[in-house]
Amino acid sequence: MKKILALLSFLILSEKVFCWGFFAHQRINYYAVFLLPPEMMVLYKPNIYFISEHAVDPDKRRYVVETEASHHFIDIDHYGSYPYSELPHNWNAAILKFSTDSLIRYGIVPWWVTREKEKLTQAFKEMDRDAILKISADLGHYIADAHVPLHACTNHNGQLSGQQGIHAFWESRIPELLAEKEWDFLIGKADYIKDPAGFIWNRFLESAAAADTVLNEEKKLTALHSETYKYGFEERKGKLVHQYSTAFALEYDSRLNHMIERRMRESIYAVASFWYTSWVDAGQPDLKLLVGREFSETAIREFGILDSLWKAGDTKDFECQ
Ligand SMILES: [Zn+2]
Repeated sequence: MKKILALLSFLILSEKVFCWGFFAHQRINYYAVFLLPPEMMVLYKPNIYFISEHAVDPDKRRYVVETEASHHFIDIDHYGSYPYSELPHNWNAAILKFSTDSLIRYGIVPWWVTREKEKLTQAFKEMDRDAILKISADLGHYIADAHVPLHACTNHNGQLSGQQGIHAFWESRIPELLAEKEWDFLIGKADYIKDPAGFIWNRFLESAAAADTVLNEEKKLTALHSETYKYGFEERKGKLVHQYSTAFALEYDSRLNHMIERRMRESIYAVASFWYTSWVDAGQPDLKLLVGREFSETAIREFGILDSLWKAGDTKDFECQ
């Protein structure tokens, strides 16, 4: 039995970790495509599998590029308490006050979202098909990360409160359990965002405000149940793994009043709206002209390199933040 347990825990530990989970990031980018107007759908729909599959590229880069990590979070409680008015939302003002090194150490996700949005607008202006699709997939990832409460606090995996594992519980276990069967992703249509920076900062501050609830509700629920109720061996992607039990996950989800579904829906809407806004800001170029083209050899080679470096990468110190 000991050997079996050791093997199972190895399987759990050797699983690559993704922010919002591999599954949720891909679903967010996938569903976002359906919110686009027909003029954009003409390019995005035939490439929906690329945009979904590559939703996790920014997390793959975290294994190979040291500077990538800070793009996914801010430990915003480092800057005082809600609404964190000590931290300027303007990048230059924030650098003046805290220095670039310090900002990068504690994370920069909202600024990174607006930077990627500008890059996407530029790619539309240049009608650069490869860049449009690559940046759309990346931008979707960063926007989705900004919607996760545990990406907006220092105690991002419950490591300071004896709740290790809560990060993947919130953003992988529960979406994998409920998203396809129970949750509704019919959302309507993308809107033009007049102030992208203000929009993403608002979403990020909502995440920050929800972080305590995410942690506290898990703690309260844990106090009501035994370890054997909380965890169990259940199937995940065809493998039997030791994880939060379905019963515990369902109770937690209802205590959060379906926050995870709501944040996933809000992520989908935001991703589609940022893509749409970038296209409008570029002057609504005719994307029909790009249909039928394939990725350049350079782009294909780059995808392959990232993938093999990621697969070969040492993930033992990786913490999704
Ligand atoms: Zn991430």
